[in-house]
Amino acid sequence: MRLGGFEPFTASDFPGRPAAIVFSQGCNFRCPFCHNGTLLGPRPAADLLQSRDFFAFLERRQGLLSGVVVSGGEPTLQEGLAGFCRRLKEMGFAVKLDTNGSRPQVISDLIEAQLLDYIAMDIKAPLGRYDLLAGRAGAGGQIINAIALIAQSGLPHHFRTTHVRSLLSAEDLQAVQELVPPGSTHRLQPFMAAAALDPALRHER
Ligand code: SF4
Repeated sequence: MRLGGFEPFTASDFPGRPAAIVFSQGCNFRCPFCHNGTLLGPRPAADLLQSRDFFAFLERRQGLLSGVVVSGGEPTLQEGLAGFCRRLKEMGFAVKLDTNGSRPQVISDLIEAQLLDYIAMDIKAPLGRYDLLAGRAGAGGQIINAIALIAQSGLPHHFRTTHVRSLLSAEDLQAVQELVPPGSTHRLQPFMAAAALDPALRHER
């Protein structure tokens, strides 16, 4: 696993659990509203968080934390993701995956191996606007597959969309909500303009 860093505590990112968040390094999308720009590309090995250091931190938090959010970047790009999640489970932590949904087979394998307890997936935009809203065209098939398998997984989950008013119209939001299967939850999440990847968005309210 290439890890860009971690947050030692969140009371809100893993529903119902005090948790830590670990950020994988690298992403295959380039969302203009991304506020994690330092996590997108490669970084020198010396700047990365060593997995052993993160696990040592978690050892010291046994009994205080009950979950770990595996976020990014995009975690499903990481070769060692299954082993990483398995180690977390063996330590007694519930695992939440944050994903952009671009690698449904990886998500499916993690579900099949019972390595996940919660999944949050971004739906960036209507499928035809992923080129602008995720910096990647042609992702629609993967997104549809990921939505379906997460909705049918039986795991607690939600879908979420960052609401950037200048990029997503009311019609776009309606189209996004139509992608969400009945019985699944969809949440709008706030746009953190000051840290946006695209400088043109940084002054947006
Ligand atoms: S917001 Fe987009 S670019 Fe940023 S980490 Fe998530 S998927 Fe990648």
